[in-house]
Amino acid sequence: MLGLSTDSCATTPSATTLGTTALGAITLGTEAIINTENIKAGLNKSCHSHEEKTVNRWSVDEIVALYELPFSDLMYRAQTVHRENFNPNAVQVSTLLSIKTGGCSEDCGYCPQAARYHTEVESEPLMALDDVIAAAQEAKDNGASRFCMGAAWRGPKQRDLEPVLKMIAEVKAMGLETCATLGMLKEGQAEQLKDAGLDYYNHNLDTAPEFYGEVITTRTYQDRLETLDRVRSVDINVCSGGIIGMGESRNQRAGLLAQLANMERPPESVPINLLTQVEGTPLHGTEELDPLEFVRTIAAARITMPSSFVRLSAGRQSMSDGIQAMCFLAGANSIFYGEKLLTTGNPEADSDKKLFAKLGINKI
Ligand code: SF4
Repeated sequence: MLGLSTDSCATTPSATTLGTTALGAITLGTEAIINTENIKAGLNKSCHSHEEKTVNRWSVDEIVALYELPFSDLMYRAQTVHRENFNPNAVQVSTLLSIKTGGCSEDCGYCPQAARYHTEVESEPLMALDDVIAAAQEAKDNGASRFCMGAAWRGPKQRDLEPVLKMIAEVKAMGLETCATLGMLKEGQAEQLKDAGLDYYNHNLDTAPEFYGEVITTRTYQDRLETLDRVRSVDINVCSGGIIGMGESRNQRAGLLAQLANMERPPESVPINLLTQVEGTPLHGTEELDPLEFVRTIAAARITMPSSFVRLSAGRQSMSDGIQAMCFLAGANSIFYGEKLLTTGNPEADSDKKLFAKLGINKI
């Protein structure tokens, strides 16, 4: 759980924005070979029937063609789509708190919380309710509008879920949006989360299906899709994205975006993480990704998911102000700060405030 929006003709607005996207895709550059048939088919489907949801809106090749545009053309297209759907100078701020750290049974190759890897992360029990509420209050005071609670579990057992439901209800009562990332959900658990007042559930696809087995073996891609279906079925907003820079190819980065963009309803929130390499994890030592490739990924996410919030998540701390500014220009409009919110000050929040002031960005 590193990282740690509607229906319509998904919507009515979505049909409009899809149209823009599709037309834009046709005109995005003479070198880009774009198959518009899927896009047209998707448009027709989404407009003709509420029941017949949009499918196959973006092929992997179409998304690769976006990546291959000249950088300025890609940024222009992304910024154009962004302005059609969002205030370009507003960024949503979420705070992530790890409510249960370390000791996880899974084998995600990037994660220091996996019990099997020898990292500096120690296994800790579930936090007490009062401590979570204090952290949520601090997040609110720092300007966060959403509070995300993450637990390093394969999935919650019922006895684990009960106290988390209380946390969600209390955080919601403070006037914050609530988000949780607890791993795979079993039947009936999404309903309980909904009843407690959960607004968003985060469960990342991580990467393209073809690369997934290189990173995780203890749960399948299908397991992840099923959890997302459970979340959708009870009308909790979906937060799902992935991690870039794990050694995947550009095609596989495009493959991840295609998975997300072609969902019946794309996630309302799409966290794009840059791999943070942690000593002791299998992915430590992976060749570093060119930062501009990360910016291109943000732009491609914005173009393919026009009405989703695209979130800069893990890895942001290692990016220069310049690269972060380019990410906002490419359409990122949500950030996480406080991977681990400290009780004594939050330097990350301070530096974000300075960056926002430099860029004239307002918090949502
Ligand atoms: S499931 Fe466990 S190992 Fe995988 S990312 Fe979450 S905490 Fe880390």
